Amino acid sequence: MTKKQTLSKILLYYKFQPISDPDAVRLWQKELCERLGLRGRILISEHGINGTVGGPIDACKEYAKRTKEYFRGIEYKWSEGGAEDFPRLSVKARDEIVAFGAPGELKVDDNGVIGGGVHLKPEEVNKMVEERGDEVVFFDGRNAMEAEIGKFKNAVVPDVNTTHDFIRELESGKYDWMKDKPVISYCTGGIRCEILSALMKNRGFEEVYQIDGGIVRYGEKYGNDGLWEGSLYVFDKRMHTEFGQGVEDPGFIQLGHCKCGKPTNKFENCINEDECRQQTLMCEDCAAHIETRHCGRPECEKVAAQLAAQLGAGA
Ligand SMILES: [Zn+2]
Ligand SMILES: [Zn+2]
Repeated sequence: MTKKQTLSKILLYYKFQPISDPDAVRLWQKELCERLGLRGRILISEHGINGTVGGPIDACKEYAKRTKEYFRGIEYKWSEGGAEDFPRLSVKARDEIVAFGAPGELKVDDNGVIGGGVHLKPEEVNKMVEERGDEVVFFDGRNAMEAEIGKFKNAVVPDVNTTHDFIRELESGKYDWMKDKPVISYCTGGIRCEILSALMKNRGFEEVYQIDGGIVRYGEKYGNDGLWEGSLYVFDKRMHTEFGQGVEDPGFIQLGHCKCGKPTNKFENCINEDECRQQTLMCEDCAAHIETRHCGRPECEKVAAQLAAQLGAGA
């Protein structure tokens, strides 16, 4: 059987630039996507645009061209997939395109975020670590959960459930020891660190960097042979992806583990869905059985045991 040819694509992009009327841009983007039959998620604020859309390849090309007329210099990342990867089209105007809870603090001009960290290309990241060694601190700009399956070597992973928690963390004093060190902030595709690095500099971190294109671009360049360790959490049905030859790669380092101790990179929902929103690493065995399909917290373990008993009795 031959592999079905892909005639659809997914586009990922963001651009920071001042938008005086976000709602007008929202209407234009919505009409454009509807006309082209694209689905996905687009957020617009007075600071810019952040989106992921999927659909027929010709429609994606047309969308990219039209959108670039307004968002000059926008860069697109093309990825496998299509409209079917999204439940619907959602185009919204919000206070922020990434919810840090700091809409008033973020300043942008036509060159992007003002006062953000210095951009480093993947090879410049390695060069800095070669030259300055252990002095360099990697600072994870994602949710702590994402780092459970992959992160930069010796990275500091802040205690955050959502990007909203970053300001509290940065102001907690926990990270003051790195304020005079070279800090390389990183996130999946780079957008979160555009903002995070500016928030850090505003709070006294003197030497802050960010990686051009984020972990994605670094991983494309170095695979499992650089400073990245493990898998990359992604926000689509796959949930995670690996670089190079994947988990079979001799350089791959397995970071993620199930509560039972088995290695896994797969996040699942806890079975106690009504009360627990925790996505948790689960091996196939634990995910396949009701009594073990929980996040590990005692209350969820109890609910799982009760459910298993009920279903067992009914069978
Ligand atoms: Zn397990
Ligand atoms: Zn739970």
